[in-house]
Amino acid sequence: MGLHWAPETSMRVIVACLPVMSLHTLSVSAVSYQLIRQSARQNQMLDELRRVDALTGLFGRGHWQEQAEAALRRHHTTDEPACMLMLDIDHFKEINDAYGHTVGDEVIRALAHVVRGNVRAGDCAGRYGGDEFAIVLPGMHARDALAIAQRIREQTEGVRLRSLPELRITSSIGVAPADHRHSSLRAWIDAADAALYVAKNGGRNQVAGCMEPALVPAV
Ligand code: GH3
Ligand code: MG
Repeated sequence: MGLHWAPETSMRVIVACLPVMSLHTLSVSAVSYQLIRQSARQNQMLDELRRVDALTGLFGRGHWQEQAEAALRRHHTTDEPACMLMLDIDHFKEINDAYGHTVGDEVIRALAHVVRGNVRAGDCAGRYGGDEFAIVLPGMHARDALAIAQRIREQTEGVRLRSLPELRITSSIGVAPADHRHSSLRAWIDAADAALYVAKNGGRNQVAGCMEPALVPAV
């Protein structure tokens, strides 16, 4: 077709191509940068979704467990005290049945608000399951943790929903200090659960402490 193979490029062609080559490099860099930023933002959002419970804004169970495990490890290695509170709303099923799940959700959010108002920045408050909340208080001895649990219990009684001001809510709370005999997080949770069971069995709307090995009703 009249073309001949000419591998050498003249200076005129190189100079003529420079603007296009620079523009191409710049636009590829800009698009790559945007993609990297977008991917970082999406990863951050995914991490947030994994860490936070959508209904309450408290930590989700997975992230809460990681934090609780870290607190127990610190207790084992440095002897730093820590306490766990396990809170469950009393007769929550009846609220759902009588007023519907939307009101039930409102109650859960109101309880989360009470919990949030009673923990410090370094504490770890999570929604453990349906109407159950779990709180780890690092650096806290049992006596102070029992006082905080008592305050949460009292403030639960004071909760009033704007949509249903006549509704009364109560909660039961189990408190368990971290103990060297807790070989795993499971054991610590079991202790807090056992205390919660005592509070429920004692008539609900109360706090109980699990001071191993004996379970003692606290207040
Ligand atoms: P108790 O005093 O023994 O705790 O009695 P309870 O009726 O509260 O019993 P339980 O704690 O087992 O009830 C939990 C109920 O919570 C069961 C389930 O239908 C309801 N639930 C779980 N997750 C949600 C939720 O996200 N929203 C609402 N509205 N209800 C939920
Ligand atoms: Mg309940």
